[in-house]
Amino acid sequence: MLVVSNPLGGPWRPSETIRLRVLSLGAGVQSTTLALMAAQGEIGPMPDCAIFADTGWEPQAVYDHLAWLRSPNVLPFPVHIVSAGNIRADIVAASQGRRRASIPAYTRTRTPAGEIVGMITRQCTTEYKIRPIRRKVRALAGLTRKRAPRHPVVEQWIGISFDELTRMKYSTEAWQVNRWPLIETGMTRHDCLRWLERHNYPRAPKSSCLGCPYHSEAVWRALRDDHPEEWADAVEVDRALRHGLRGIHGEVFLHRSATPLETVPLTDIEKTGQADLFLDECDGMCGV
Ligand code: SF4
Repeated sequence: MLVVSNPLGGPWRPSETIRLRVLSLGAGVQSTTLALMAAQGEIGPMPDCAIFADTGWEPQAVYDHLAWLRSPNVLPFPVHIVSAGNIRADIVAASQGRRRASIPAYTRTRTPAGEIVGMITRQCTTEYKIRPIRRKVRALAGLTRKRAPRHPVVEQWIGISFDELTRMKYSTEAWQVNRWPLIETGMTRHDCLRWLERHNYPRAPKSSCLGCPYHSEAVWRALRDDHPEEWADAVEVDRALRHGLRGIHGEVFLHRSATPLETVPLTDIEKTGQADLFLDECDGMCGV
């Protein structure tokens, strides 16, 4: 059995109490590499399954890639798809006052002292990813409506790469441990891309909601220039937000400049210095 060094906590060793190993699959570069490395026997023990939490608003390339991952002879374990609803429909409903907003959109509020730009607290990762995955994991481990043990019985693999160390978060549940095999092996996102290339696998897309407010300038620009229909969809949702959201004062925007998406110049990341906020913000559940 492969035992590798964990830079944060000594060597990782399989626990005898684990009865379910689950790979959290975002269908992006890192979790795809992780799943395929497990399939090739490069990381073990073999997971029992993978789980993809579908927000309903991923780029078409992610859904196509997911369909390939689930096709025969790609992965030796099943990929379950779970969902807590369609985030796009819920954002539009929020813009019509029918529910509360959960995405970390930007607000511009006029006050007597001037304009204030703020950000809505993010709840979407928990609502659309963490909770539905946890529900499925509990069901698979036979823990639905049961008192969970006080020791780990589930190991959850998360596809964060070595360059994303800051996204690691330990499990808050006593019955589950998180594991980050790409970090144990010291693999960066770039290494993952090279590994996929070396093994003649298709290049995995970037996985995240189409209009995620954490997009870097480069991601917005690629959406605008390479996927005009998906860009138009994001612009439409951005416009719907303008009238405000329930419980939020002021105008609301998807872009961090708190200006309409279609008017943002989207200059080079090198010029603006604006990085992808997933690194600090997304609990390691989005964008991998
Ligand atoms: S990708 Fe962005 S909008 Fe979608 S769930 Fe994650 S943080 Fe929220």
